[in-house]
Amino acid sequence: MSARILEGKVFAGQFKEDARKRAAALKEKYGVQPGLAVIIVGHDPASEVYVRNKHKACEELGIYSEVIEMAEDSSKEEILARIDSLNKDAKIHGILVQLPLPKALRSSEEEILDSIDPVKDVDGFHPVNVGRMVKGEEALLPCTPHGCLKMLELAGIEIEGKKAVVVGRSNIVGKPMLHLLLARNATVTICHSRTENLPAVTREADILVAAVGCPKFITADMVKEGATVIDVGINRLPPAEPGAKGKLVGDVDFEAALEVAGAITPVPGGVGLLTVAMLMENVVQAAEMQLA
Ligand code: NAD
Repeated sequence: MSARILEGKVFAGQFKEDARKRAAALKEKYGVQPGLAVIIVGHDPASEVYVRNKHKACEELGIYSEVIEMAEDSSKEEILARIDSLNKDAKIHGILVQLPLPKALRSSEEEILDSIDPVKDVDGFHPVNVGRMVKGEEALLPCTPHGCLKMLELAGIEIEGKKAVVVGRSNIVGKPMLHLLLARNATVTICHSRTENLPAVTREADILVAAVGCPKFITADMVKEGATVIDVGINRLPPAEPGAKGKLVGDVDFEAALEVAGAITPVPGGVGLLTVAMLMENVVQAAEMQLA
């Protein structure tokens, strides 16, 4: 048996189309274009690529976009002042601070992220949005796990009553994934680095989500026959020769799991594409909430 491959671009295309239509509807109804401000501090090359992709997606979908480049040695106070003025800026409906911050600012990361007005928190990291998500109230939801959930729904994968296992308990992926699946009435188990006999737990899963950050960590023998496998991991392998770029792989041994799973996301070309699409949806949702 070879699993159904859940291609990220198919789902991301639909989420973006939805965001484009909703952005156009806001323009027509209120004469307002949804706006996103991205703050990038320093010159991390991977972050610069992510920020460019977000800016490009905004342009494609009729969303106003501002990229605020701040110097590597910016102080916490300078960043907080910038966020404060964006919180008050009516053109801007969504604010995000690109992570990781430079080393000197890492200990202030929480304070910086928490200074974003919750109604503009399009990453869904603010405690107010996290609390609302846990209570099942309307909230801006973290883009990657929300994208995974919407993909499962759009792909027609049954969630209610099913056993879901999430491997990884980060605040960005694992924990919100747990709550979103729970809200859809799955029976959810969350695993982490101290979980005992992990393969026995993952083999129970009808839906298995891997968010570990370890190449090919989930092997075929850890997957239940016919399960849906969502691979969130993005890992770059060491290059085969000096100067070359290492191959991107997920947290799942894709080729082997393909023979056991019922459906599976590839890396690259899977979940990674959903994150930016969901960010666009969040900017539109934030604008809708602020204008309503
Ligand atoms: P993280 O490092 O914050 O968390 C990793 C989690 O894995 C931890 O909770 C840890 O307990 C768990 N873990 C580590 N070793 C384990 C083990 N041996 N057994 C069981 N659990 C173990 O990582 P993160 O931010 O959640 O990201 C996870 C992966 O997802 C990374 O590869 C990251 O690049 C990727 N990611 C992708 C997207 C996307 O857009 N597709 C977004 C965010 C993260």
